[in-house]
Formats: sequence, structure tokens, C-alpha cells
Amino acid sequence: MKQLLDAPPRTWVFRPDERLHLPDLPVTCMLGCEVDHAADKDWHPEDVWCQRNSPGLDITVTEGADDTWDASYFKVHVNRHPFSLNPALRRPYAILQAAEEQYSKVMGPDELAELIGKFEQHVQAMKTAHAQLVAALAVYQDGGR
Ligand SMILES: [Zn+2]
Repeated sequence: MKQLLDAPPRTWVFRPDERLHLPDLPVTCMLGCEVDHAADKDWHPEDVWCQRNSPGLDITVTEGADDTWDASYFKVHVNRHPFSLNPALRRPYAILQAAEEQYSKVMGPDELAELIGKFEQHVQAMKTAHAQLVAALAVYQDGGR
């Protein structure tokens, strides 16, 4: 990650869909952008975005005891839409992908820090639940029912 953040932002030229009759648009990527912009052409400028992802929390989930699959949750994306009509999206912002197709609102640094605090509190609650599980299981160690 350090390497991506130390490198100067990439610059490239976006060619909008010719039906839009717009000139080519120079783009300077967001610092740390991981997107391969080679496929970004023939679109509307608002469809261009830079992104950097954090790893998700991978959990095996189920809807029934015999039907399990691995899913990834709580990915933080840092995005920037350089040509968005919404000025707030033209600057880097964070968004939490809680689960597939479930996203948080757009967040700035203070809101992301607040959310991280909620996760820290939640981890503490999970540790309490773990301790409760260990204590409850101890009752069953000698075959109790
Ligand atoms: Zn980019």
C-alpha cells in the first residue's frame, strides 16, 4: 500500500462516448487509485471513478445448516468521481460496503472515524459474547445437558 500512496497520481485522458460530443478530458487519478482505467472509454464522464479498496471480513454464512458459502463483508472503498455533478463526489470519500449490494452513505474522514469507533465497540461486545460462550460451554464439558 505504501508504494501506491508514495507514487505520484497517474494521469491519463478520458475519451467520452462520441455521441456526447464532448472533448477528451484529462484525468489525474486519486492518490492510491487501483482502477485499471484502460477500459474507461465510450462512457459518460460521470461514470468514471477512481477507487481503492480495503480487504473485507470473510465469513462463512448460511441460510440452513447444510447450505454454507463464503461471503465478504465490511469493505471500505475510497472513491472519487472526477466528473460527478455532485461536488462532494469529486473529492475522495469513503463508503462502507456492509455486504453485497448494501452500502453506507458517503462518508468523510470524521464519519469514517466514528464508524471505526463503532466497530471497536462491536469487537468488544463480540469478545464479551465469546467469554459468555466459553463459560456456557464449560457447563457441558462433562457431558451435561
Ligand atoms: Zn483512477
